[in-house]
Amino acid sequence: EISVDGSDDDSRIRVCVRKRPMNKKELAKESYDIVTTATTRFPHSQVYVHEPKTRVDMSKYIETHSFILDHSFDETSTNEQVYLATGKPLVKSIFEGGMCTFFAYGQTGSGKTHTIFGNPAEPGIYSYTCRDIFSQINTTTPPDQQSPHLRCSFFEIYGPKINDLLNPNPNAAPITLCEDKHGSVNLMNLHEEIVTSLSSLLSLVQRGRSLRTTRATNANSESSRSHALFQIRIVSNDGYLIGVLSLVDLAGSERGVDSISFTAKPDKKTQSEAAEINKSLLSLKECIRALYKRGLDEENGHVPFRGSKLTHILRDSFLCRESRTVMVATISPGSTSVEHTLNTLRYADRVK
Ligand code: ADP
Ligand code: MG
Repeated sequence: EISVDGSDDDSRIRVCVRKRPMNKKELAKESYDIVTTATTRFPHSQVYVHEPKTRVDMSKYIETHSFILDHSFDETSTNEQVYLATGKPLVKSIFEGGMCTFFAYGQTGSGKTHTIFGNPAEPGIYSYTCRDIFSQINTTTPPDQQSPHLRCSFFEIYGPKINDLLNPNPNAAPITLCEDKHGSVNLMNLHEEIVTSLSSLLSLVQRGRSLRTTRATNANSESSRSHALFQIRIVSNDGYLIGVLSLVDLAGSERGVDSISFTAKPDKKTQSEAAEINKSLLSLKECIRALYKRGLDEENGHVPFRGSKLTHILRDSFLCRESRTVMVATISPGSTSVEHTLNTLRYADRVK
Protein backbone atom coordinates (compact mmCIF):
# COMPACT_ATOMS: atom_id res chain seq x y z
CA GLU A 1 0.00 0.00 0.00
CA ILE A 2 1.18 3.46 -0.80
CA SER A 3 0.81 6.01 1.91
CA VAL A 4 -0.15 9.61 1.20
CA ASP A 5 2.11 10.68 4.01
CA GLY A 6 5.33 11.93 2.48
CA SER A 7 7.31 11.37 5.67
CA ASP A 8 9.00 8.26 4.31
CA ASP A 9 10.29 10.29 1.40
CA ASP A 10 13.66 11.60 2.38
CA SER A 11 14.37 13.63 -0.73
CA ARG A 12 15.60 17.07 0.20
CA ILE A 13 13.83 18.93 -2.55
CA ARG A 14 10.33 18.16 -3.67
CA VAL A 15 8.51 19.97 -6.41
CA CYS A 16 4.79 19.35 -6.60
CA VAL A 17 1.90 20.72 -8.55
CA ARG A 18 -1.59 21.50 -7.34
CA LYS A 19 -4.48 22.07 -9.64
CA ARG A 20 -7.41 24.01 -8.21
CA PRO A 21 -11.04 23.45 -9.23
CA MET A 22 -12.55 25.53 -12.04
CA ASN A 23 -14.17 28.63 -10.59
CA LYS A 24 -17.49 30.30 -11.49
CA LYS A 25 -15.81 32.96 -13.59
CA GLU A 26 -13.98 30.40 -15.69
CA LEU A 27 -17.12 28.35 -16.17
CA ALA A 28 -19.05 31.48 -17.19
CA LYS A 29 -16.37 32.42 -19.70
CA GLU A 30 -16.67 29.03 -21.31
CA SER A 31 -13.15 28.30 -20.29
CA TYR A 32 -12.63 24.58 -20.16
CA ASP A 33 -10.44 22.36 -18.05
CA ILE A 34 -7.23 21.56 -19.91
CA VAL A 35 -5.17 20.06 -17.11
CA THR A 36 -4.98 16.37 -16.45
CA THR A 37 -3.01 15.11 -13.52
CA ALA A 38 -2.31 11.46 -13.95
CA THR A 39 -0.70 9.46 -11.22
CA THR A 40 1.59 6.62 -12.11
CA ARG A 41 3.71 4.94 -9.50
CA PHE A 42 6.82 2.92 -9.90
CA PRO A 43 8.54 0.62 -7.45
CA HIS A 44 11.80 2.13 -6.27
CA SER A 45 14.27 0.15 -4.13
CA GLN A 46 11.42 -1.93 -2.75
CA VAL A 47 9.74 1.20 -1.50
CA TYR A 48 6.95 2.75 -3.47
CA VAL A 49 7.50 6.40 -4.03
CA HIS A 50 5.13 8.89 -5.52
CA GLU A 51 6.07 9.52 -9.06
CA PRO A 52 2.99 11.02 -10.58
CA LYS A 53 2.99 12.35 -14.02
CA THR A 54 1.22 15.60 -14.49
CA ARG A 55 0.03 16.19 -17.99
CA VAL A 56 -1.14 19.48 -19.32
CA ASP A 57 -3.16 18.81 -22.35
CA MET A 58 -3.43 21.84 -24.60
CA SER A 59 -5.90 20.42 -27.06
CA LYS A 60 -6.72 23.95 -28.17
CA TYR A 61 -3.35 24.06 -29.85
CA ILE A 62 -3.47 20.43 -30.90
CA GLU A 63 -0.43 19.99 -28.74
CA THR A 64 0.19 18.16 -25.50
CA HIS A 65 2.67 19.11 -22.87
CA SER A 66 3.70 16.67 -20.19
CA PHE A 67 5.57 17.40 -17.04
CA ILE A 68 6.85 14.96 -14.48
CA LEU A 69 6.98 16.26 -10.96
CA ASP A 70 7.43 14.66 -7.56
CA HIS A 71 3.79 14.76 -6.63
CA SER A 72 0.57 16.11 -8.01
CA PHE A 73 -2.64 17.14 -6.35
CA ASP A 74 -5.82 17.46 -8.34
CA GLU A 75 -8.91 19.59 -7.77
CA THR A 76 -10.32 17.17 -5.21
CA SER A 77 -7.34 17.38 -2.88
CA THR A 78 -7.59 19.16 0.45
CA ASN A 79 -5.07 21.33 2.25
CA GLU A 80 -4.70 18.56 4.79
CA GLN A 81 -3.70 16.07 2.09
CA VAL A 82 -1.25 18.58 0.66
CA TYR A 83 0.15 19.11 4.15
CA LEU A 84 0.61 15.40 4.85
CA ALA A 85 2.61 14.89 1.68
CA THR A 86 4.65 18.08 1.75
CA GLY A 87 4.71 20.05 5.00
CA LYS A 88 4.73 17.23 7.52
CA PRO A 89 8.18 15.93 6.54
CA LEU A 90 9.48 19.47 7.03
CA VAL A 91 8.16 19.62 10.59
CA LYS A 92 9.99 16.40 11.40
CA SER A 93 13.15 17.83 9.91
CA ILE A 94 13.17 21.15 11.81
CA PHE A 95 13.31 19.26 15.09
CA GLU A 96 16.42 17.51 13.77
CA GLY A 97 18.16 20.83 13.11
CA GLY A 98 16.80 21.52 9.65
CA MET A 99 16.12 24.88 8.10
CA CYS A 100 13.18 24.11 5.91
CA THR A 101 11.24 26.13 3.40
CA PHE A 102 7.85 25.70 1.80
CA PHE A 103 7.16 27.81 -1.30
CA ALA A 104 3.84 28.33 -3.05
CA TYR A 105 4.56 29.43 -6.60
CA GLY A 106 2.03 30.31 -9.30
CA GLN A 107 -0.17 32.74 -11.12
CA THR A 108 -2.37 35.09 -9.12
CA GLY A 109 -5.64 33.33 -8.37
CA SER A 110 -4.21 29.83 -8.71
CA GLY A 111 -4.31 28.97 -4.99
CA LYS A 112 -1.02 29.96 -3.31
CA THR A 113 -2.62 31.77 -0.39
CA HIS A 114 -5.35 29.14 -0.21
CA THR A 115 -2.71 26.45 0.15
CA ILE A 116 -0.59 28.17 2.78
CA PHE A 117 -3.14 30.15 4.77
CA GLY A 118 -6.49 28.71 3.75
CA ASN A 119 -9.78 30.15 4.96
CA PRO A 120 -12.07 29.55 7.95
CA ALA A 121 -13.74 26.62 6.18
CA GLU A 122 -10.46 25.00 5.20
CA PRO A 123 -7.38 25.84 7.23
CA GLY A 124 -4.15 26.22 5.32
CA ILE A 125 -1.05 24.11 5.72
CA TYR A 126 0.30 26.67 8.22
CA SER A 127 -2.30 25.56 10.76
CA TYR A 128 -1.45 21.85 10.44
CA THR A 129 2.20 22.80 10.67
CA CYS A 130 1.66 24.77 13.88
CA ARG A 131 -0.46 21.99 15.36
CA ASP A 132 2.23 19.38 14.69
CA ILE A 133 5.04 21.60 15.95
CA PHE A 134 3.25 21.97 19.27
CA SER A 135 2.35 18.31 19.55
CA GLN A 136 5.99 17.44 18.88
CA ILE A 137 7.11 19.87 21.59
CA ASN A 138 4.56 18.53 24.05
CA THR A 139 5.35 14.88 23.48
CA THR A 140 9.13 15.19 23.53
CA THR A 141 9.72 17.56 26.42
CA PRO A 142 10.28 15.68 29.69
CA PRO A 143 7.85 16.86 32.37
CA ASP A 144 10.64 18.29 34.53
CA GLN A 145 12.05 20.42 31.73
CA GLN A 146 11.13 23.70 30.19
CA SER A 147 9.97 23.20 26.63
CA PRO A 148 11.47 24.90 23.58
CA HIS A 149 9.72 28.06 22.52
CA LEU A 150 9.01 29.56 19.13
CA ARG A 151 10.15 32.89 17.77
CA CYS A 152 7.91 33.98 14.93
CA SER A 153 8.07 36.67 12.32
CA PHE A 154 5.77 37.51 9.47
CA PHE A 155 6.67 40.00 6.77
CA GLU A 156 6.33 40.93 3.14
CA ILE A 157 8.99 41.73 0.59
CA TYR A 158 7.58 44.38 -1.68
CA GLY A 159 10.15 45.61 -4.19
CA PRO A 160 13.14 46.81 -2.17
CA LYS A 161 11.00 47.20 0.97
CA ILE A 162 10.32 44.83 3.80
CA ASN A 163 6.97 45.35 5.52
CA ASP A 164 6.46 43.91 8.98
CA LEU A 165 3.11 42.18 9.25
CA LEU A 166 3.34 41.92 13.03
CA ASN A 167 3.99 45.60 13.60
CA PRO A 168 1.10 47.88 12.66
CA ASN A 169 3.04 51.07 13.50
CA PRO A 170 3.34 52.96 10.21
CA ASN A 171 6.31 54.95 11.62
CA ALA A 172 8.31 51.90 12.60
CA ALA A 173 12.03 52.00 11.80
CA PRO A 174 12.73 50.52 8.37
CA ILE A 175 13.69 46.87 8.28
CA THR A 176 17.12 46.34 6.84
CA LEU A 177 19.05 43.26 5.91
CA CYS A 178 22.49 42.80 7.40
CA GLU A 179 24.98 40.01 7.68
CA ASP A 180 26.80 39.26 10.92
CA LYS A 181 30.47 38.31 11.07
CA HIS A 182 29.63 34.70 10.20
CA GLY A 183 27.66 35.84 7.17
CA SER A 184 24.34 34.95 8.78
CA VAL A 185 21.50 37.17 7.69
CA ASN A 186 19.58 39.25 10.18
CA LEU A 187 16.68 41.55 9.60
CA MET A 188 17.18 44.62 11.78
CA ASN A 189 14.05 46.10 13.35
CA LEU A 190 11.91 43.13 12.37
CA HIS A 191 9.43 42.27 15.08
CA GLU A 192 9.82 38.76 16.45
CA GLU A 193 7.23 37.35 18.77
CA ILE A 194 7.80 34.61 21.29
CA VAL A 195 4.97 32.13 21.13
CA THR A 196 4.32 29.39 23.65
CA SER A 197 0.92 28.05 22.68
CA LEU A 198 -0.87 26.90 19.56
CA SER A 199 -3.76 29.32 20.00
CA SER A 200 -1.46 32.33 20.24
CA LEU A 201 0.43 31.17 17.16
CA LEU A 202 -2.77 30.85 15.15
CA SER A 203 -3.99 34.27 16.24
CA LEU A 204 -0.63 35.83 15.42
CA VAL A 205 -0.96 34.60 11.84
CA GLN A 206 -4.48 35.97 11.62
CA ARG A 207 -3.23 39.32 12.86
CA GLY A 208 -0.52 39.39 10.20
CA ARG A 209 -2.93 38.37 7.48
CA SER A 210 -5.41 41.09 8.30
CA LEU A 211 -2.62 43.68 8.35
CA ARG A 212 -1.54 42.40 4.95
CA THR A 213 -5.04 42.94 3.58
CA THR A 214 -5.44 46.40 5.13
CA ARG A 215 -2.04 47.57 3.96
CA ALA A 216 -2.70 46.30 0.47
CA THR A 217 -5.93 48.29 0.30
CA ASN A 218 -4.40 51.45 1.74
CA ALA A 219 -1.35 51.46 -0.48
CA ASN A 220 -3.45 50.48 -3.47
CA SER A 221 -1.15 47.55 -3.96
CA GLU A 222 -2.02 43.90 -3.97
CA SER A 223 -0.67 40.80 -2.37
CA SER A 224 0.10 39.50 -5.85
CA ARG A 225 3.07 41.90 -6.00
CA SER A 226 4.75 40.89 -2.80
CA HIS A 227 6.30 37.79 -1.31
CA ALA A 228 4.94 36.99 2.15
CA LEU A 229 7.20 35.06 4.55
CA PHE A 230 6.06 33.49 7.77
CA GLN A 231 9.01 32.17 9.77
CA ILE A 232 9.10 30.00 12.85
CA ARG A 233 12.33 29.52 14.78
CA ILE A 234 12.39 26.78 17.36
CA VAL A 235 14.61 27.78 20.25
CA SER A 236 15.62 25.47 23.09
CA ASN A 237 15.16 26.58 26.71
CA ASP A 238 18.86 27.49 26.87
CA GLY A 239 18.56 29.77 23.86
CA TYR A 240 20.02 27.44 21.23
CA LEU A 241 18.43 27.55 17.76
CA ILE A 242 17.03 24.10 16.96
CA GLY A 243 15.50 24.66 13.53
CA VAL A 244 13.71 27.08 11.25
CA LEU A 245 10.66 26.74 9.09
CA SER A 246 9.72 29.33 6.47
CA LEU A 247 6.42 29.37 4.65
CA VAL A 248 6.60 31.55 1.58
CA ASP A 249 3.58 32.82 -0.33
CA LEU A 250 5.32 34.11 -3.46
CA ALA A 251 4.28 37.05 -5.62
CA GLY A 252 2.13 36.15 -8.61
CA SER A 253 4.37 34.50 -11.19
CA GLU A 254 2.60 36.37 -14.01
CA ARG A 255 4.19 39.55 -12.64
CA GLY A 256 7.48 38.56 -14.19
CA VAL A 257 8.58 40.52 -17.30
CA ASP A 258 8.51 37.49 -19.55
CA SER A 259 4.86 36.93 -18.99
CA ILE A 260 3.64 40.53 -19.08
CA SER A 261 5.31 41.07 -22.42
CA PHE A 262 2.39 39.50 -24.23
CA THR A 263 -0.25 41.62 -22.48
CA ALA A 264 -0.91 45.34 -23.03
CA LYS A 265 2.13 47.62 -22.88
CA PRO A 266 2.91 48.07 -19.19
CA ASP A 267 3.72 51.45 -17.62
CA LYS A 268 7.12 52.24 -16.06
CA LYS A 269 6.15 51.36 -12.50
CA THR A 270 4.61 48.07 -13.54
CA GLN A 271 7.68 47.35 -15.60
CA SER A 272 10.17 47.94 -12.80
CA GLU A 273 7.97 46.02 -10.36
CA ALA A 274 7.79 43.17 -12.82
CA ALA A 275 11.55 43.23 -13.33
CA GLU A 276 12.08 43.02 -9.57
CA ILE A 277 9.68 40.11 -9.16
CA ASN A 278 11.14 38.38 -12.17
CA LYS A 279 14.63 38.76 -10.75
CA SER A 280 13.63 37.23 -7.44
CA LEU A 281 11.77 34.31 -9.00
CA LEU A 282 14.66 33.55 -11.34
CA SER A 283 17.10 33.82 -8.51
CA LEU A 284 14.96 31.48 -6.41
CA LYS A 285 14.99 28.90 -9.19
CA GLU A 286 18.77 29.12 -9.43
CA CYS A 287 19.21 28.72 -5.68
CA ILE A 288 16.98 25.65 -5.49
CA ARG A 289 18.72 24.16 -8.51
CA ALA A 290 22.07 24.74 -6.86
CA LEU A 291 20.81 22.99 -3.72
CA TYR A 292 19.60 20.08 -5.78
CA LYS A 293 22.91 19.73 -7.61
CA ARG A 294 24.78 19.92 -4.36
CA GLY A 295 22.62 17.04 -3.12
CA LEU A 296 23.72 15.04 -6.15
CA ASP A 297 27.32 16.10 -5.49
CA GLU A 298 27.50 17.48 -9.00
CA GLU A 299 28.88 20.71 -7.70
CA ASN A 300 30.35 21.60 -4.40
CA GLY A 301 27.70 24.09 -3.94
CA HIS A 302 27.81 27.75 -4.76
CA VAL A 303 24.28 28.95 -4.09
CA PRO A 304 23.71 32.36 -5.75
CA PHE A 305 21.57 33.65 -2.89
CA ARG A 306 22.67 37.28 -3.33
CA GLY A 307 20.69 37.48 -6.56
CA SER A 308 17.63 38.92 -4.84
CA LYS A 309 16.39 40.12 -1.48
CA LEU A 310 14.13 37.08 -1.19
CA THR A 311 16.92 34.56 -1.64
CA HIS A 312 19.35 36.63 0.44
CA ILE A 313 16.92 36.56 3.38
CA LEU A 314 16.70 32.78 3.00
CA ARG A 315 20.50 32.45 2.78
CA ASP A 316 20.90 30.33 5.90
CA SER A 317 18.22 27.91 4.74
CA PHE A 318 19.95 27.52 1.40
CA LEU A 319 23.34 26.90 2.96
CA CYS A 320 22.22 24.60 5.75
CA ARG A 321 23.20 20.97 5.10
CA GLU A 322 20.04 19.81 6.80
CA SER A 323 17.72 21.91 4.71
CA ARG A 324 14.66 20.60 3.02
CA THR A 325 12.70 22.48 0.41
CA VAL A 326 9.21 21.99 -0.93
CA MET A 327 7.71 23.90 -3.78
CA VAL A 328 4.03 23.60 -4.57
CA ALA A 329 3.32 25.05 -7.99
CA THR A 330 -0.33 26.03 -8.05
CA ILE A 331 -2.14 26.12 -11.35
CA SER A 332 -5.50 27.21 -12.71
CA PRO A 333 -7.13 24.51 -14.81
CA GLY A 334 -8.92 26.78 -17.29
CA SER A 335 -8.05 27.15 -20.97
CA THR A 336 -8.01 30.93 -20.46
CA SER A 337 -4.94 30.52 -18.22
CA VAL A 338 -3.02 28.22 -20.50
CA GLU A 339 0.01 30.48 -21.02
CA HIS A 340 0.46 31.13 -17.31
CA THR A 341 -0.10 27.49 -16.47
CA LEU A 342 2.56 26.42 -18.94
CA ASN A 343 4.95 29.04 -17.58
CA THR A 344 4.37 27.78 -14.05
CA LEU A 345 4.92 24.15 -15.02
CA ARG A 346 8.06 24.99 -16.98
CA TYR A 347 9.42 26.85 -14.00
CA ALA A 348 8.61 23.95 -11.66
CA ASP A 349 10.13 21.53 -14.12
CA ARG A 350 13.41 23.45 -14.20
CA VAL A 351 13.76 23.84 -10.47
CA LYS A 352 15.07 20.32 -10.16
P1 ADP B 1 -3.36 33.22 -5.10
O1 ADP B 1 -2.92 33.40 -3.68
O2 ADP B 1 -2.49 32.26 -5.85
O3 ADP B 1 -3.52 34.51 -5.80
P2 ADP B 1 -5.79 32.32 -3.89
O4 ADP B 1 -5.22 31.33 -2.94
O5 ADP B 1 -6.21 33.62 -3.32
O6 ADP B 1 -4.81 32.56 -5.11
O7 ADP B 1 -7.00 31.61 -4.63
C1 ADP B 1 -7.92 32.33 -5.47
C2 ADP B 1 -9.33 31.85 -5.17
O8 ADP B 1 -9.48 30.48 -5.51
C3 ADP B 1 -9.69 31.95 -3.70
O9 ADP B 1 -11.03 32.34 -3.58
C4 ADP B 1 -9.49 30.54 -3.18
O10 ADP B 1 -10.31 30.28 -2.08
C5 ADP B 1 -9.86 29.69 -4.38
N1 ADP B 1 -9.07 28.44 -4.39
C6 ADP B 1 -7.76 28.35 -4.68
N2 ADP B 1 -7.33 27.06 -4.63
C7 ADP B 1 -8.40 26.33 -4.28
C8 ADP B 1 -8.62 24.94 -4.05
N3 ADP B 1 -7.63 24.03 -4.18
N4 ADP B 1 -9.87 24.55 -3.71
C9 ADP B 1 -10.87 25.44 -3.59
N5 ADP B 1 -10.74 26.77 -3.79
C10 ADP B 1 -9.53 27.22 -4.13
MG1 MG C 1 -2.46 35.22 -2.72
